[in-house]
Amino acid sequence: MRVARTKGEVREAVAVARREGRRVGLVPTMGYLHEGHLSLLDRAKKSADWVGLSIFVNPLQFGPAEDLDRYPRDLERDLEQAAGQGVDLVFAPSVSEMYPAGPPRVAVVPEVGADVLCGARRPGHFRGVLTVVAKLLGIFAPDVAVFGRKDYQQVVLIRRMVEDLDLPVEVVTAPIVREADGVAMSSRNVYLSPDERVRARSISGALRAVKDGFRAGERDPNVLRGVLVDGLGASGLRLEYAELLAPDSLEVAETVEEGSVCAVAAMIGQTRLIDNAVLTLSAEAEAP
Ligand code: AMP
Repeated sequence: MRVARTKGEVREAVAVARREGRRVGLVPTMGYLHEGHLSLLDRAKKSADWVGLSIFVNPLQFGPAEDLDRYPRDLERDLEQAAGQGVDLVFAPSVSEMYPAGPPRVAVVPEVGADVLCGARRPGHFRGVLTVVAKLLGIFAPDVAVFGRKDYQQVVLIRRMVEDLDLPVEVVTAPIVREADGVAMSSRNVYLSPDERVRARSISGALRAVKDGFRAGERDPNVLRGVLVDGLGASGLRLEYAELLAPDSLEVAETVEEGSVCAVAAMIGQTRLIDNAVLTLSAEAEAP
């Protein structure tokens, strides 16, 4: 496995892979890898025979009062995990490699859909995400890029960017990977105290209750939203949003149907956690 610090090294390695006739896959991350990230690498390997992993804590997507400085980092451990996963190249650039002129003169700004859900609480966040993803797509020029459905709004906006800017890449998404107790894996879980970690279970528990309600035939979004809010109620979380959304969109669902998504963001102490569940009758439904 190769470790690249510069865009030039990535381009060179990708050019070699291309000459060998390989299909190139990319998994963008901010590192501090967990099994959620590893599942994306597995998914990438199914659609590509050369897989790049980027590890970059992107300052552009953090607000001034957010956790950029304390975001967990452990490159050595990440490299071990990536090697174990059969990654071909890890791109771990510095901030100045990615933004040599400081803040970019040109950014990718979502025209719609960035002022709701997470975007409402994190102004500029999706501008930062789309800009860095566009740059990574430019650097790797992959055939396929894989993203987790845990970041539901992010995936919707990335798909729109690829479609609206005619970027030549296939976007693939992968389901949420959870801890044994249902909590969605996240690099930020490391911030949680033992007590907060227990209380975090109420998020996946509440999503589970909504799924159960849906499977029992409930289709009224207000009733299902009530189930969600009740499930979160006793755990002392500060709810940012709890919404039922139409499938593959950021629109609040007027009627709940197969494929509707239930999305939650909440603060536990100083830690912001997000999670979601696709409502489906199919047995292969994603956890929770
Ligand atoms: P991050 O490092 O948090 O920016 O995440 C990098 C990628 O991993 C994104 O596409 C996330 O949606 C995805 N991801 C994060 N957590 C999970 C999880 N628990 N299950 C599946 N994918 C995840």
